[in-house]
Amino acid sequence: MVDLVVRSRRVVTPEGERPAAVLVEDGKIAAVLPYGAEAAAAEDADLGDMALLPGLVDTHVHVNEPGRTEWEGFATATRAAAAGGVTTIIDMPLNSLPPTVDTGALKIKKAAAAGQCHVDVGFWGGAIPGNAGDLPGLHEAGVFGFKAFLADSGVPEFPPVDAGQLAGAMNAADALFVIHAEDPDHLAEAASSAAYADFLASRPPDAEHAAVATAIAVARAAGRRVHILHLSAASALPLIAAARADGVRVTAETCPHYLTLDAADIPDGATEFKCCPPIRDTANADRLWEALADGLITCVVSDHSPCTPDLKRRDTGDFAAAWGGIASVQLGLPVIWTAAAQRGHTLADVVKWMARRPADLVGLRSKGRIAVGADADLVAFEPDEEFVVDAHALHHRNPVTPYAGKRLRGVVRRTWLRGRTVTGDEAGGIFLARGN
Ligand SMILES: [Zn+2]
Repeated sequence: MVDLVVRSRRVVTPEGERPAAVLVEDGKIAAVLPYGAEAAAAEDADLGDMALLPGLVDTHVHVNEPGRTEWEGFATATRAAAAGGVTTIIDMPLNSLPPTVDTGALKIKKAAAAGQCHVDVGFWGGAIPGNAGDLPGLHEAGVFGFKAFLADSGVPEFPPVDAGQLAGAMNAADALFVIHAEDPDHLAEAASSAAYADFLASRPPDAEHAAVATAIAVARAAGRRVHILHLSAASALPLIAAARADGVRVTAETCPHYLTLDAADIPDGATEFKCCPPIRDTANADRLWEALADGLITCVVSDHSPCTPDLKRRDTGDFAAAWGGIASVQLGLPVIWTAAAQRGHTLADVVKWMARRPADLVGLRSKGRIAVGADADLVAFEPDEEFVVDAHALHHRNPVTPYAGKRLRGVVRRTWLRGRTVTGDEAGGIFLARGN
């Protein structure tokens, strides 16, 4: 007698999509059997033609608690994640106060998150000028690696590093370094304006190109693994390809907004579309999709980074003054599935980009896959049903998102975390640490 069986004619496994019955015991996947297999279970859920996916792994989420909980907190962010089919998030080290740049700050963050998490949560540490000595201890305490900015982060307590400081950080800890790659020398001060084009012109592709080159050069010299966060400028892709061919351990991610939104369609004053690096044009997005298809971009993550409507300057629509960040942790799966299906990709592709590869990035072998021994993080997903996004119905704290009013394909019906349903009130998430 097992705890749970979930049957579907469309179970997305690492080997592809097939009819199967997934048996769950003690929170783990105990067996993957033929769809009609006999099994005695406390609950036997037959999804029929509805798809069964592994829970998504979103390695790029800004929760902002403690310190800026009015922007987003653990209860709201993780509830939104669960509702969106995301069962693991890795929290970014900045925008919360204090930022996660030493072991004391990590303790404070965990204390703030305790008992509130609807999904499993891990943490990134931060590399800032002067904290190289704190990195080994923070890594030992279980952070999955270190984030560094090469340009202004938007908050004063998390300053950027230059190439020399990044090298110092990489030499201090044998860790994965994840980089916000924009070069300040190529960024212009955006003038106050409600026109998106003015903001876009202030952050050209060259800024990403130059910073990606810096990150690769430093990683190459230090012999470290480096990951380019939220790549927007497709012109940087050949640099990454060349470095990989040369043996540098470099990977890159992109986000739903860079793949599916078009700069030309952003209305005046629509600051809910502001993020850094910026959303660019469709030709650029086409090249990002090609890079995803050929594996040069390894994963798609949300970069969920909300704030309050006033800081988003919803009143004036001034792109220069607005906080840069897009809230989408609950919507990433249908946003990407809608566009991916139109481009001829499969659900198995989406799962690879949004579950298995992000899990592999941070070494979470028990997450992001429907396979024997993995955690029973599962999502019942109706792939053909459509819905219109109602920002006020989303679970994240502030009802601001560029996807408001959009018609999307794919509805999450139920999410299980380690075998238990979490699309309810229960906050059963645990803290994850590097190496478990
Ligand atoms: Zn971010």
